[in-house]
Amino acid sequence: MNKTNPMLSVQQALDFLLAAARPVTGTEVIPTLAANGRVLAADQSSLLNVPPMDNTSMDGYAVRAADCALPAVTMPVSQRIPAGHVGQALQPGTAARIFTGAMIPAGADAVVMQEMCEFHKDEAGDRVTIRHAPQSGEWIRRAGEDIRAGSVILPAGTRLRAQELGLAASVGLASLPVVRRLRAAVFFTGDELAMPGEELKPGAIYNSNRFTLRALLENLGCEIADYGIVPDTLDATRDTLRRAAQDNDLIITSGGVSVGEEDHIKPAVEAEGRLNMWQIAVKPGKPLAFGEVNRQQGKDEDAGKDKGAAWFLGLPGNPVSSLVTFMLFVRPFILRLQGVDKVAPQACVMRADFEWPKADRRNEFLRARINDSGGLDLFPNQSSGVLTSTVWGDGLVDNPAGTTIARGDSVRFLPFHSLLY
Ligand code: AMP
Ligand code: MG
Repeated sequence: MNKTNPMLSVQQALDFLLAAARPVTGTEVIPTLAANGRVLAADQSSLLNVPPMDNTSMDGYAVRAADCALPAVTMPVSQRIPAGHVGQALQPGTAARIFTGAMIPAGADAVVMQEMCEFHKDEAGDRVTIRHAPQSGEWIRRAGEDIRAGSVILPAGTRLRAQELGLAASVGLASLPVVRRLRAAVFFTGDELAMPGEELKPGAIYNSNRFTLRALLENLGCEIADYGIVPDTLDATRDTLRRAAQDNDLIITSGGVSVGEEDHIKPAVEAEGRLNMWQIAVKPGKPLAFGEVNRQQGKDEDAGKDKGAAWFLGLPGNPVSSLVTFMLFVRPFILRLQGVDKVAPQACVMRADFEWPKADRRNEFLRARINDSGGLDLFPNQSSGVLTSTVWGDGLVDNPAGTTIARGDSVRFLPFHSLLY
């Protein structure tokens, strides 16, 4: 550790990012059917009660509870009410055949399930023998039991998943106001990079980060402007930054964030805007560049952003480092720019079925998999270049700095599905 420039903890770096991120203000109204993954821009209330009317949760007979007595009562069946149909008011001393979801007729205050009833047809007409004395209200779902008319069902800042869309639809909301999509530019530094489909020349590797980062940004609902592979020169890096800042809310890069001769991100962003180079006590990861790139002619649609600049986030080039850094820092930052309140991934406590005898001075995020007995196994190679670990694993063990893990210990586990979306 450097005394004058100590490493930031994961939490400190995250606090900085989230304090800087002011949500964009642009919104649009879109069909509820097209709103999966978007972020709600305003509170949504229900204009209706759900369910809209008292209805039965069983197939059976609607009755007046007071008409029933043990051991049994026989009464005429006055009507038949399937779901979606409205019956007549129930006359005292009669029962209505009724089916799940159907509206309870006026005058009835209970439903007796059909298993407790016996239906007869004779010269006196349709009759039913009821061998149960229900409580008033039995098997009735009350109007407004789930949602009261006028209540907020989904607050602004909610990310819309399958269940939120279903809830919105259940109160009749055909369209929803959502935060506009963020525009994210990406580019990849490194003269060694080639694209799949191209021949791999000596010394070259494939640009896997392009695929990882684009998928991550897509998962978060961003519109992506991809500037591809940028040569390791200051001029090319500055030029791409300038172009990317014009039309985008944020710029994300991979590689070149160390301070070697071939690392041009730092001087390029400093020349085109402002930059913080962070050393974070995290493994994999460590360097993270955070700053802003000026726009040429103050294009500024959103008051939330300083006039005329795009956010800049420079990730390390090592594939696992870049993935983990995105998950830990870029994901919450992007969610907050979209106005999402709850940006922390959902963690759980699990049993380590492995040993990690050597403590690190950095906070480690170890690739691990859930085994059949409800514990965690560890991928044998935790190096920051080994993407296989991320495919094999189900998530990351968050191991605090200076901590060893013994078999059977409880550890904090972040499942990938809570870090990817
Ligand atoms: P850098 O951060 O530029 O020093 O790169 C660190 C390591 O990550 C080097 O081994 C690079 O070859 C590798 N690397 C950099 N960019 C990428 C990329 N886009 N895809 C895969 N590996 C990369
Ligand atoms: Mg490089």
